[in-house]
Amino acid sequence: MPKVHNWQIGREMNYPYPQAFPRRQFAFVFNINRCIACQSCTMACKSTWTFSKGQEHMWWANVETKPYGGYPQFWDAKILSLMEQANPGNQQWSGRPSNDKKKPYGQFDGKTIYEAQNMLTPDSARVLGYLPTDEEWNLPNIFEDNPVGKRGVKNELDKEGTALPEHKTWFFYLARICNHCSYPACLAACPRKAIYKRPEDGIVLIDQKECRGYRKCVEACPYKKTMYRGNTRVSEKCVACYPRVEGKDPESGGQPMETRCMAACIGQIRMQGLVKMNNDGTWAEDRYNPLYYMVHVARVALPLYPQFGTEPNGYYIPPRWVPRDYLKQMFGPGVDEAIERYSYPDRELLAVLQLFRRSNRIIFRYEIKEGPKVYEATLRGRKVTMYNDTVIAYGQDGKEIFRTQVEEPVHVRPNKHANSI
Ligand code: SF4
Ligand code: SF4
Repeated sequence: MPKVHNWQIGREMNYPYPQAFPRRQFAFVFNINRCIACQSCTMACKSTWTFSKGQEHMWWANVETKPYGGYPQFWDAKILSLMEQANPGNQQWSGRPSNDKKKPYGQFDGKTIYEAQNMLTPDSARVLGYLPTDEEWNLPNIFEDNPVGKRGVKNELDKEGTALPEHKTWFFYLARICNHCSYPACLAACPRKAIYKRPEDGIVLIDQKECRGYRKCVEACPYKKTMYRGNTRVSEKCVACYPRVEGKDPESGGQPMETRCMAACIGQIRMQGLVKMNNDGTWAEDRYNPLYYMVHVARVALPLYPQFGTEPNGYYIPPRWVPRDYLKQMFGPGVDEAIERYSYPDRELLAVLQLFRRSNRIIFRYEIKEGPKVYEATLRGRKVTMYNDTVIAYGQDGKEIFRTQVEEPVHVRPNKHANSI
């Protein structure tokens, strides 16, 4: 099997095909601290792409409640358990998070789904995976809002449950779409080569004419983001709203637009980007691209289950109130540093966090114009200062998309409208 470099796990790994990278990669950052599980994203996707016969159970975008929720049920616990069975006691990280772009989170010394594949029967042995049962696909919202208590019991509450940094009673919402992975497991597993990754933006698509519905992709994707459609007998998956990314949406004026799930996000948790890639698969330096900044400079956004080995292009700002061991299993060893930076944001991070959801256009660059100091306080024993800086977003064409300020403007309703709607 060819060797490829996976920077998220800090080492070379096996992958069925030689490494090849798109010119730009579709990627996104979700800030979990802000998600309210309104499911607007879920419904925006559903009503755009999967409303027809045979697509009832397809939720290309979903929001699940951790730790118990999942779609399909227990997708992550099941694949983690298979990986552990394949390599008992050795699914460990070594080293420490650092500025080394080839191994920013240290090194994962365990086996990825490509290296643990011999757990499966020989004829499907390219990727370690499993096919969920029909029951596991039945209930997209099962365990919604179910908290876990300090002893891991469902719905158990604790009187001290609301003190940061960690809550003794906790749950959180995990919004998910296909990660358009750099080393997609769905693509690796497809015996028909019906799945491909577009060289222009790294979006992973299934060629419906080539697919014969073997469901190897469904079995292989550790995130369970390819789904089988019974009435057409082919698989389907998130298409990253590629007409919008291409600038073909009539609203876009020819410029790249964010996907429907991003654009619909009420909680303003989502930001999508197109990041420039180096020949070795690392991200090319692009200091003022907001995604590059959050992943590689501020380092507040982390990949989802990097140990799977697919190099997902979905990044998450982890929730502050959740026990760290749980988060480290989910987002890797960079969790402590990410939460620290997010909890005490510096001037630039505070400004960049204002860019979420002010426009449907993809932001390619930002610029900050300094404003006056507006706030100073002590937060959990540390001094914080806030400046009312202006942050300006630019599109692919270099033109300004919008500008916004750190301090939200307050509009006072005139007296004459006091009781009117
Ligand atoms: S998340 Fe799954 S479906 Fe999406 S590219 Fe990765 S392996 Fe394929
Ligand atoms: S629309 Fe945004 S806030 Fe609402 S559930 Fe989806 S990700 Fe969360």
